[in-house]
Amino acid sequence: MPEVSPLQPLTDPLLTQKGVALSILREDLLHPGIPGNKWRKLKYNLQEAREKECETLVTFGGAFSNHIAAVAAAGQEFGFATIGYIRGEETLPLNPTLELATRHGMQLRYLSRTDYRLRHEPHFQAEILKKAPKPYFLPEGGTNLLAVKGCTEIVSELTEPWDVLCVAAGTGGTMAGMVAGAAGQGKVIGFPALKGGAFLQKEVTELVQEYSGQTYQNWALQTEYHFGGYARHTPELLSFIQQFYQSHGILLDPVYTGKMLYGVFDLIRQDYFPKGTRLVAVHTGGQQGWTGYAQRYGLAWPLPELVKSDVAFGFTFLKTCQNRRR
Ligand SMILES: *Cc1c(COP(=O)(O)O)cnc(C)c1O
Repeated sequence: MPEVSPLQPLTDPLLTQKGVALSILREDLLHPGIPGNKWRKLKYNLQEAREKECETLVTFGGAFSNHIAAVAAAGQEFGFATIGYIRGEETLPLNPTLELATRHGMQLRYLSRTDYRLRHEPHFQAEILKKAPKPYFLPEGGTNLLAVKGCTEIVSELTEPWDVLCVAAGTGGTMAGMVAGAAGQGKVIGFPALKGGAFLQKEVTELVQEYSGQTYQNWALQTEYHFGGYARHTPELLSFIQQFYQSHGILLDPVYTGKMLYGVFDLIRQDYFPKGTRLVAVHTGGQQGWTGYAQRYGLAWPLPELVKSDVAFGFTFLKTCQNRRR
């Protein structure tokens, strides 16, 4: 398993003009089936599950969820059975995310939208866990304190000096880990993928506090880059992602990293960062979602072959970086 994800510096006329440096931290290449922050979030949970001699990973997610995809792949690789409680009714044929999860051995169970709302309730969780042999529970999105611990390593493993870290946020678990990992150094900026992302202020503060016992001030949320809400997009966002791929050879995802990097470029354009700032934007992965996303919205781009070849290209890139390190 690769231990360090490489930093890929970008060359771009805007960066030259504004005198800032921007590198992409290719966390999306950390692990083939369990990319990016999902691997970071699962790592210590999988250890804990093994130590407690649990046999079944039980979790919740939407039908296109990167977390569901990652838990299924992790179960297969590390020898756990997996059960995924999916929001909404079964739709056949399965979408590419759920189809792959099934191929990785995940048992899918469906919850009505009303029942799904109970997913944070302890007694509802207890009922669900009774139905699985030796269960280990992972919350929706995988955020708990062991996930936060895993995400501190995104920062502690950085090999180059930096001033500002940028990351997409869903539940805020990844960002909380990065804030804890930065331990007051530099600045961490989170870009919520949901509308009304200001609620993450409280979530992140609490997670950081619970994990580290500290409160830090060196982080902020940019809540205006949600493009209409979770899993929504505009033509502008899609053309940014396409253009970013053409310029830099890096495929972003439409739900999280595309919005975050759009925001980063927008802030650079507005002179938000002083000259000389060294920015690192974390590519948390999520490309698995493209095939289903493109089908759902009738998009011609990116083609499934492109999604696959990007990942293949990514691993070649990672190998080159690792060889250079040795
Ligand atoms: C899940 C996910 C996130 C959000 O992580 P949180 O810890 O829930 O904030 C960001 N980017 C990608 C690609 C993801 O899959």
